[in-house]
Amino acid sequence: MTFHPHWFGVKLEYVCSLCCITSVEMAVINSKTEDLDKIKSRIDRESLSCQHCKAPLGHGTEVDVKIVNGTPEYLKSLGFQIPIIPLSQRRKGTDKI
Ligand SMILES: [Zn+2]
Repeated sequence: MTFHPHWFGVKLEYVCSLCCITSVEMAVINSKTEDLDKIKSRIDRESLSCQHCKAPLGHGTEVDVKIVNGTPEYLKSLGFQIPIIPLSQRRKGTDKI
């Protein structure tokens, strides 16, 4: 398995529209690009679900996204998890990540 040159820790925070409890997901993205806007646009929000009641995240739910750059080891030490966050496949081929 080969890796892209850039590693980012992504922290997603969102409030469930059903149970109103805040979920936090921390994961690692391995990316071809350093363009944070592209990375943010590729995060598949529809695959997210509430960590408490497991309900899928509704459309229009606001997701707070924070991105940290670093080596996999550094990101792991901050609590970001490997493997990698799911990225949207729908835009595959249009903007490479
Ligand atoms: Zn919930």
